[in-house]
Amino acid sequence: MFELLTEKFSNVIEKLKRAKKLDEKVVDEALKDIKIALLEADVHVDVVKEFIEDIKKKIIGQEVIKGLSAGETVIKLLYDEVINILGGEEASSIAKPEKPPAIIMLVGLQGTGKTTTAGKLAKYLKSKGYKVGVASTDVRRPAAAKQLCTLASSIDIPCFVDENEKDALKLTEKVIEDAKKQGFSYIILDTAGRLHIDEELMEELKQIKEKVKPAEVIYVADAMQGQDAINTAEEFHKAVGLTGVILTKLDGDAKGGIALSIRKVIGVPIKFIGTGEKIDALEPFYPDRIAQRILGLGDIQSLIEKMQAAIEEDKAKEMAQKVMNAEFTLEDLREQIRMIRSMGPLENILKMIPGIGAQIKNLKVDEKKFVQIEAIINSMTPEERMKPHIINGSRKKRIAKGSGTTIVDVNKVLKQYEEMKKMMKKFKKSGKMFNPFGKFG
Ligand code: GDP
Repeated sequence: MFELLTEKFSNVIEKLKRAKKLDEKVVDEALKDIKIALLEADVHVDVVKEFIEDIKKKIIGQEVIKGLSAGETVIKLLYDEVINILGGEEASSIAKPEKPPAIIMLVGLQGTGKTTTAGKLAKYLKSKGYKVGVASTDVRRPAAAKQLCTLASSIDIPCFVDENEKDALKLTEKVIEDAKKQGFSYIILDTAGRLHIDEELMEELKQIKEKVKPAEVIYVADAMQGQDAINTAEEFHKAVGLTGVILTKLDGDAKGGIALSIRKVIGVPIKFIGTGEKIDALEPFYPDRIAQRILGLGDIQSLIEKMQAAIEEDKAKEMAQKVMNAEFTLEDLREQIRMIRSMGPLENILKMIPGIGAQIKNLKVDEKKFVQIEAIINSMTPEERMKPHIINGSRKKRIAKGSGTTIVDVNKVLKQYEEMKKMMKKFKKSGKMFNPFGKFG
């Protein structure tokens, strides 16, 4: 999948990684390389133009991202932009069956993988716990309906057919009636395809849509057909109005042009991708995962890790400063505990305090204690966290109740916190090192 595009982009990325400075020459060359890569991968020209303009604007207004080099910053911008043209951070899912049965109409030309996809989607929705049925509205090719029912029976999914009905609209009505009676959540309608777009087909699809009021009208596009598939999708969209796209045969698509173009050109999201002939070769479409695949997964992951490390280092430094200035509030203590619990090693924070390294060795951290302390601090009001001295008997009672602990536990946290503060003050005066977390060990 996308081998050609990945290869082209990996050249761009290698060059950027080597760039020491991001001067105009480096940026222009990178943009030129990206443009060529996209065009060679069969990405729609308008999409390429927009992509290059957007990323150029971003580079101009962007400072180097903390933790990254200049070249890596451009790679990160490129990654964000690829996610953007693929549809943004969120994967787009199938509409929920609010008024069951929710009808999913699959439309597209013959041979694109519509029937196979109907089976795959039925299996996918069934695995999510829905009662799913399939039906074919192709009255011209009985073999198509037969193929669908064979596929359905292999995955134990009911297939609604009526071989004697030769009117697609009437057939559809009957199918929906039956499905309603039997309490299906979803019915997947495999509509008729043709080798080329024709008026009669479009009219039939329009009428079916009018009749069944589908929750989704999904265009099944063969990724191998490149630009043709996009032009066809536009025609279908004009005639029947699409809600999404499923891209099939992505396993055989080295270029990736259609994956990168179709959402921008048609304006509807890619919902799933077909990655093989087998019935379970259907995956929800996650733009970030695809972007990582296109740009080289390892490269992107290491960038994200570097950025996170820089953010954590900043936070840790800020906290260490507070400890040294004895400004440490219960709010900070909670933040600290959350950080420790999310990142694990307390050492990361403590090692930022000069001279404390040697003391870390003897530090033992009891995770459960931290959970309890956090619960107690959570039950305080923001004012109580900033000014613990206002916490009187009735407040303590409320905090204990809210955190599922006892007044004794609340007192203990407050006392430990006060001791920490005292030690911090002493430490500030003496200039010696101390370990504020030893108390909680
Ligand atoms: P329809 O005429 O649109 O209903 O197309 P079919 O469902 O009959 O599929 C046409 C051919 O494409 C069949 O040989 C399928 O096995 C194959 N096909 C469908 N989806 C995929 C896919 O995601 N990957 C691959 N490699 N082949 C697929």
